[in-house]
Amino acid sequence: MSQDDVKFLNLQRVNARYRDALVEAASRVIDSGWYILGAEVNQFEQEFSSYCGTRHCISVGNGLDALTLILRGYIEMGRLQPGDKVLIPSNTFIATVLAASQAGLTPVLIDPDEDTYNLSAAALRDTDLSAIKAVIAVHLYGQLADMAAISDLCEHRGLLLIEDAAQAHGASIDGKRAGAFGAATGFSFFPGKNLGGLGDGGAIITHDDNLSNVCKKLRNYGSSIKYQHDLQGVNSRLDEMQAAFLRVKLAHLDNDTQQRRHIAQRYLQGIRNSAIKLPTVTQAPAHVWHLFVVRCRQRDLLQAHLASCGVQTLIHYPIAIPDQASYRETLPASNLATRLAAEVLSLPMDPTMTDAEVARVIDACNSFKTDVDAV
Ligand SMILES: *Cc1c(COP(=O)(O)O)cnc(C)c1O
Repeated sequence: MSQDDVKFLNLQRVNARYRDALVEAASRVIDSGWYILGAEVNQFEQEFSSYCGTRHCISVGNGLDALTLILRGYIEMGRLQPGDKVLIPSNTFIATVLAASQAGLTPVLIDPDEDTYNLSAAALRDTDLSAIKAVIAVHLYGQLADMAAISDLCEHRGLLLIEDAAQAHGASIDGKRAGAFGAATGFSFFPGKNLGGLGDGGAIITHDDNLSNVCKKLRNYGSSIKYQHDLQGVNSRLDEMQAAFLRVKLAHLDNDTQQRRHIAQRYLQGIRNSAIKLPTVTQAPAHVWHLFVVRCRQRDLLQAHLASCGVQTLIHYPIAIPDQASYRETLPASNLATRLAAEVLSLPMDPTMTDAEVARVIDACNSFKTDVDAV
């Protein structure tokens, strides 16, 4: 990469916009003398649950722990049993599947919709759900899955519905935001996410008072009263510093989302190349464009061409979960997931991109020449 390349995500520039406020937040924490489970975490939890329109937010160390502790919480509550089967889309980030494994449950993969890359109610209807106890809907790339239809179906079948909203902070349908649809939701605040800290972080969001109490214990050694351990918990807490940083950034999240939508709109209108399949958008507010993912039969050639034009791209994700060494023995192969891994490419998506940078990405896509049509 050279200096004037269009970066995939310029995190330095993203956070530089809030430098003064971040420094102020860091000073406040340093001077407070209190660094774990204090006022900043309490404030952030209130602000984020209110942002999502839910009753409770339990902040944790990262997004993987958020999902794992939700599942462990439902086991503690007797709503799930160890070994129960959890349905998960085959093309998600590995953490969704790891959460089920780490909670002692059995992940079962289901292929997503080919256009939205999300779990669909139609796919659920076509699947034998008799042995399934829970479903994790992943809002992949920042677009909400069809939650109205999926939650109806889960309710009808008595399935526990959990959201993985690690890529979809603020995505909404009819004013209802990611995190407000399922029984509980896992969020990540990894630095590159739409709401990202300056380190690891995550949160559980839920309307469920019991789950909230159990997860508050689980994240803190199974304890809500010091040195009294009701459950065999873990140590997974958002620290005061990250909570203070996230409070600064939460105030600007909707503004950043608008920028992402503006960039996505320009890509959707400007990229005209029969070799490149553009993303399918269900409805505008449902997409917060964590990633702008195109598909191309000659993906590696397209990526090399864009690199030669000074445009940095990434692949989400290059190896399908059933093809990973960690799951090859236990999960059956998915042709669709394997094919998606070979065809997807994520274009630069960064709320601080300039108009000129967006134009360079569009021009670079349009100058890619091949005889092979899009998928
Ligand atoms: C990032 C991500 C996670 C995990 O979050 P971490 O904070 O990195 O542990 C889980 N699911 C999805 C879909 C993600 O993109």
